[in-house]
Amino acid sequence: MSSDVNRNRSFNVNIRFSYSMRCIGKGQRSGQVFCAMLNLPPPSSKFVKSNSAILDSLKIVSLGSLLNAVREAKLLNNNNSTDIIVACDGSWQKRGHTSLNGMISVTSIESGKVLDIKCLTKYYHSCAVIQDDHECVKNFVGASGNMEAAGAVAMFKRSWSDQGLRYVKYLGDGDSKGFIKVSECKSYGGNVKIENGIYCSWSWVSTCSVLKDYVAVRI
Ligand SMILES: [Zn+2]
Repeated sequence: MSSDVNRNRSFNVNIRFSYSMRCIGKGQRSGQVFCAMLNLPPPSSKFVKSNSAILDSLKIVSLGSLLNAVREAKLLNNNNSTDIIVACDGSWQKRGHTSLNGMISVTSIESGKVLDIKCLTKYYHSCAVIQDDHECVKNFVGASGNMEAAGAVAMFKRSWSDQGLRYVKYLGDGDSKGFIKVSECKSYGGNVKIENGIYCSWSWVSTCSVLKDYVAVRI
């Protein structure tokens, strides 16, 4: 990613510092405190300006990674078929179905790699503060719990045109209306019926194995 970011001729270390802070959810002020505590010079004054360069590069890198995952999923699928099985799941910025931001992913069962993602947000700061003409990024209205289903529908609708794939079997963890909504939207026409399956989420499998080990030790 650094080679893409450095098109704006920033020092690599400054870009990496800014990116590191963003990865742990911190900004310029936190960076200044961090540097002060380590007795280092303060971060570059271009800290905020580097955000857009980082975002642009992340978009390029992530798009390339998703395209590679799509190619791999096609190769691994039986006879290079374009009809594949996918797992859908959502993640939110915070728990409790009150989050303003959510991310939904589609993962190939064959490769275990993410094929597509959809980010949904209910809030944009400029809407609340500036309230004039702006490029709005708000793209969801409704209960946060419904984001998963909305994101899944959006990705099913674009899978054929963008990736040349049809997600014909939907695996979910059963905590959303994802499958119902995906079936209703008939993304691949009325003749293609999407099958349903419910899987035990990886976090739950992991929890189960930890509990099993714990019980075994205790006994
Ligand atoms: Zn807006």
